[in-house]
Amino acid sequence: MRVAVIGGGAAGQIAAIKAAENGHRVTLLEQNEKLGKKLFITGKGRCNVTNAADREGFFRHVIRNPRFLYSAYAHFDSAAIMALIEAAGVPLKVERGQRVFPASDHSSDILKALERTVRAAGVEVRLNTRVSGIVAANGAVSGVRIGQTVEPFDAVVLATGGLSYPSTGSTGDGLRFAQALGHTIEPLCASLVPLETEERWCFELSGLTLKNVTLTAFSRKGREVYTELGEMLFTHFGVSGPLVLSASALLAGEAEGALLSIDLKPGLSEEQLDARLLRDLAANNRKTMGGALYGLLPQKLLSVVLTEAGIDAAAPASGCTKAQRRALTETLKGLKLHVKAARGFTEAIVTRGGVSTREVNPSTMESRKVKNLFFAGEMLDTDAFTGGFNLQIAWSTGALAGSSIPMEVTAMKQSIGIDGPAGAGKSTVAKRIAAILNIPYLDTGAMYRAVAVAAKRHGVAFDDEPGIAALIGTIGMQVRYTETGEQHILVDGEDVTGELRTEEISQGASLVSRVPAVRDRLTELQREVAHAQRVVMDGRDICTNVLPDTPYKFFVTASAEERANRRYKQLIESGQPAEYETILSDIIRRDKQDSERAYKPLYCGADTMRIDTTDMTIEEAVETILREV
Ligand SMILES: Cc1cc2nc3c(=O)[nH]c(=O)nc-3n(C[C@H](O)[C@H](O)[C@H](O)COP(=O)(O)OP(=O)(O)OC[C@H]3O[C@@H](n4cnc5c(N)ncnc54)[C@H](O)[C@@H]3O)c2cc1C
Repeated sequence: MRVAVIGGGAAGQIAAIKAAENGHRVTLLEQNEKLGKKLFITGKGRCNVTNAADREGFFRHVIRNPRFLYSAYAHFDSAAIMALIEAAGVPLKVERGQRVFPASDHSSDILKALERTVRAAGVEVRLNTRVSGIVAANGAVSGVRIGQTVEPFDAVVLATGGLSYPSTGSTGDGLRFAQALGHTIEPLCASLVPLETEERWCFELSGLTLKNVTLTAFSRKGREVYTELGEMLFTHFGVSGPLVLSASALLAGEAEGALLSIDLKPGLSEEQLDARLLRDLAANNRKTMGGALYGLLPQKLLSVVLTEAGIDAAAPASGCTKAQRRALTETLKGLKLHVKAARGFTEAIVTRGGVSTREVNPSTMESRKVKNLFFAGEMLDTDAFTGGFNLQIAWSTGALAGSSIPMEVTAMKQSIGIDGPAGAGKSTVAKRIAAILNIPYLDTGAMYRAVAVAAKRHGVAFDDEPGIAALIGTIGMQVRYTETGEQHILVDGEDVTGELRTEEISQGASLVSRVPAVRDRLTELQREVAHAQRVVMDGRDICTNVLPDTPYKFFVTASAEERANRRYKQLIESGQPAEYETILSDIIRRDKQDSERAYKPLYCGADTMRIDTTDMTIEEAVETILREV
């Protein structure tokens, strides 16, 4: 396919590499004069590439929509990006907090490693090229607008970043393109950003760094949203530094009116602190308050603290009352700052909000609204704390998007679809055909079972329709085949194949399959599998709904009596109780339900070959199909 990747940042470069390695013709379009302008300034010029924490550690640091990232992270994790960079000749090192940097401490080395890999993969790079729109026709991408011309492309990866540090090129173009194509953009706001305070004394302390303090942030409604020990600093407008940036991420969008409380002495209890004050005051009782407490805090901060506690720094230490000591202790354990506003996008490390993750398939990063349109990186509504996690989001989503671009559509057209009523033998026929042709059999029933496993794990009852509908939008599901053609299903990156064959899951699958959102999502996934390789699959709506374009469509059926007869024999042979009349009426009832249901009913389309197996063996049915394919 001809693939355009728009945006040459972290996400765009990795998407271009993966798509090109998969055999696509890839053009990377970047409006700047060079790739990775933002990457260059990351980590204060050292580039904190990723974080070497394990999977759990990564997801603990993702703030917004972590579940959306399960498949992406399973597909391309921190070890994967580290391996890619080191393979391109740039050694890495792991520092405190598992932060990963280039051994050279130069972000330019990361840029070089990426660019080398981009070129080696055969990507065409076009710099100084600003895309002005995406063109779609019939619900699918058809091209990219550059200036006044439209260039045709079969697939597009949008990786234009958020709104933060617009000087690096992230000015929100891609968000506008996505919106114009019908996507919801979740409200955008600056995150990991310094905070402006009402207190003007911050200006006087500008440049002062506080280490080993505890910062607690309260929302404007008074709810504690953050508390952590670490480092922060004062600036001419308020506060910044690691603790403040993290707090800002949890206040995002609602910073105005929030309250910050700094515990300047987190290692001492109020009693211990009071004892320390008493000691200092007694030892220096001829001095002023400011002089007596000289060693307690940096000088400028001490005078602010005394003022905030309502104590005159020039007053004699000998006159300090118990009430004044209490006020001082309270201020030291909780110096208050009232937040006026968060600084803007020009100073924000990341953008909160972006393309709604509900409208993007988490297993592929493809839009649920426009076919062959993929999203990656900061423009998606997901973000994390500092520490290399935001770049990891860009790497993971970029790699998954690039790897998910389907091969030529003709591959899907050759897949084989088999529909038919219950008990007609279609699964047996489908499996035989897959075995003879040596192509995978897609067990669609297993996919419904996997949804039931996910529901069980997330504590959602199988018959809770709204709960199941909400869940299906967030879980990532992937189908994989071993070299021997065995099907494995991964839910949120974890192989659940071993859990599918229990009675409870079987019943759950039957209930969850009634939810339209589940059917839609699995249809999408079934199409993706058929896109990627030729498969045989059977079900109730494969030919009419999942693979309407394949030329190989079959409807395997048999009379109700014959199907009841087969089932009756099966039960008797396995020593189970059976009554022919009950089985027959059950089959007739199911046929009626399947063919009359409003949502995707069972029927044999005009372009589908009907194979009636009433007077045929399974082998004869298989041969009939093989003659056609
Ligand atoms: C100062 C700073 C330091 C940071 N440090 C770290 C760190 O150390 N570790 C970490 O994990 N994260 C860090 N981050 C966050 C991280 O850099 C981003 O989350 C990440 O770079 C996002 O990557 P992206 O590819 O999605 O977007 P970007 O890197 O923003 O790339 C988007 C690209 O798209 C291009 N583009 C936009 N519109 C168009 C158009 N119309 N046509 C063509 N091209 C277009 C832009 O020019 C840009 O090159 C930092 C951020 C900042 C601002």
